[in-house]
Amino acid sequence: MANFFLDNDDLRFYLERALPWDTLVAMTEMGRDDGYASVDEAVAAYRDVVELVGELVADEIAPHALRLDHEGVRLENGEVVFPKTLARIFDKLREVELHRMCLPRELGGMNCPFVLYMIACEMFARADASVMTHYGFHLGIAMALLLFSVREGSTTFDRDARRIASTRWADAIEEIASGAAWGSMDITEPDAGSDMAALRTRAELGADGVWRVTGQKIFITSGHGKYHFVIARTDGAVPRQGMAPGEGLGGLSMFLVKAYDDGPGGRVRHAQIAGVEEKMGHHASATATIVFEDTPAELVGEVGEGFKYMLTMMNNARIGVGFEALGVCEASYRAAKAYAAERWSMGKPIARHELIADMLDEMKTDIAGIRALAMEACVGEELTQKLELEAMVLGAEGDVDAKRREREIARHKRRTRAVTPLLKYLAAEKAVEMARRAVQIHGGVGYIRETGVEKLYRDAAVMPIYEGTSQIQALMAMKDRLSAVIKAPQAFVRKAAQARFRAMSARDPLERRVARLTVACHQAVQHLVAKTASEKLSGLRGRPLGTWLGELKGGWDPKRDFAYAMLHAERLTQMLADEAIAKALLRQQARFPERRPVLVAHVERAEPRVRFLLDRILTTGERLLGDLAAADPEASEREAG
Ligand SMILES: Cc1cc2nc3c(=O)[nH]c(=O)nc-3n(C[C@H](O)[C@H](O)[C@H](O)COP(=O)(O)OP(=O)(O)OC[C@H]3O[C@@H](n4cnc5c(N)ncnc54)[C@H](O)[C@@H]3O)c2cc1C
Repeated sequence: MANFFLDNDDLRFYLERALPWDTLVAMTEMGRDDGYASVDEAVAAYRDVVELVGELVADEIAPHALRLDHEGVRLENGEVVFPKTLARIFDKLREVELHRMCLPRELGGMNCPFVLYMIACEMFARADASVMTHYGFHLGIAMALLLFSVREGSTTFDRDARRIASTRWADAIEEIASGAAWGSMDITEPDAGSDMAALRTRAELGADGVWRVTGQKIFITSGHGKYHFVIARTDGAVPRQGMAPGEGLGGLSMFLVKAYDDGPGGRVRHAQIAGVEEKMGHHASATATIVFEDTPAELVGEVGEGFKYMLTMMNNARIGVGFEALGVCEASYRAAKAYAAERWSMGKPIARHELIADMLDEMKTDIAGIRALAMEACVGEELTQKLELEAMVLGAEGDVDAKRREREIARHKRRTRAVTPLLKYLAAEKAVEMARRAVQIHGGVGYIRETGVEKLYRDAAVMPIYEGTSQIQALMAMKDRLSAVIKAPQAFVRKAAQARFRAMSARDPLERRVARLTVACHQAVQHLVAKTASEKLSGLRGRPLGTWLGELKGGWDPKRDFAYAMLHAERLTQMLADEAIAKALLRQQARFPERRPVLVAHVERAEPRVRFLLDRILTTGERLLGDLAAADPEASEREAG
């Protein structure tokens, strides 16, 4: 098979030209003396790694995807067993040391940037999504071990050599890097998925000073791993306002649990695998139920900081799902395109029938857009984390750039926070849409197992569900946007005026069209804020005018006050994603004029979509919200009161 990197011009564009290598290399090497002599040398080495992955996934994984799907994984005597094909793939990954890709050299790693790992994940997922998921729980967990240790202050640095001197979980990191172990992220419980405040797994500190975790976690990807990050309720947590200790999100803490130890007498399990799910797709990835019963655990950070640590891990994981979904989009598009070129109907290849050509063109356009968004989210997250790390390595002394760095961190954080839910939402939804289109373009054979496209459809279906469902991403994106406007209305008015000005007066007609997308997004946001505020204001009737500003700036009840905006959150998210892609591609074409056709294609697709979505936001919703309010006894009481 062709190398999955070399055969992908869009991916090569980022690695060869568009990624900000000067900054990424500088931030990754951090002035160490064991690094590359120049940026070019570093990028050449990165390219070798990506090419190696491109070849490996094309030759060693993609040809076996159907077999992996057929064989799956199984539970035998309380342990997950990999069939031979899958075991061989992971032996190969171990051999080429791919689990070491982004770890610092002093921890036995290759010290590659995070974006390289994400590019690798995209190519893995193009070959087989379930292999990618399991692969992700190796390096992903090793990096979380390091990041969490840095955050909690248990990593020390050799400032002169600009490297890590010691870190709390060095042994576990090495075990994972060598391929001998991996980990998992244990959050979901039978009654708590999206609603994390409902989590019930508990951790208690024993008189011997050891924390012990008790509870059940379900749907845990690669839950047969050794190192589990478990989020659990702790009674000693600092309570949030109005909550009893241990309640709500402030009552959650993060733990590292070693699920087993291997000794001369065999494996001793501290956490049990109670079952492995039979799933619609992702057959080569184990999805396990894990039972903890007074299982010894190490507290990560402070009691009550669990949600904070989980968000850090989830941010990275959501970007990971963005790239994973991109891999499935790429596989679907390529399968559909190849089939459409060779399948004839009514005198010509189906690729030349207008309807099919339109589908393929939209798939290609969307892939380029999602990749632009994915790169932006990934680079932003990487720079945020590396700037924070740099601040810690340098310490307060002699850090002349501290102020500038703080501003940079805040800027990257803001941007990444805005883009990540858009990426997770769009990429996951598009993976499902594109896989379905691939089935449709294949006609009858698309529905038959041996073509492999129905597998893509089954594999894609979980992407809008895990790592925060599409609805949760949309709610996050909407609340962030609306809160920003409520907190700083003047800034919003200024930006809206600037966008209207650009929409009329920019010299480049394409820039004017992009600005019009922004104007439409502002209109949608303004409408949602106005609706939300008018509801809030009606609740303030009869209160002194002087209290209104305070009430409007704070004291929002997300469940009550945002009902109208929540109804339209997905529509707003789709608009914001279209706008974010258009802006990213506009910036690209300013540097690389040959990218202009990519922007033209996106804007042509985005314009009617955005108009339609705006119309729905402006004109629909009242009837349904009326019905919901009538069915909600609390809301009826409030109305009456
Ligand atoms: C293959 C697979 C692998 C997984 N891997 C992991 C893992 O490694 N670790 C882990 O901890 N979990 C994992 N999960 C669990 C996954 O993260 C959850 O399934 C997901 O968070 C959704 O939770 P839920 O299933 O309880 O659905 P619910 O939260 O019950 O949601 C059901 C539906 O209601 C919607 N919904 C819920 N609340 C709202 C709201 N406020 N507004 C609007 N809509 C809402 C959701 O979007 C969804 O459509 C995995 C799941 C699968 C299927």
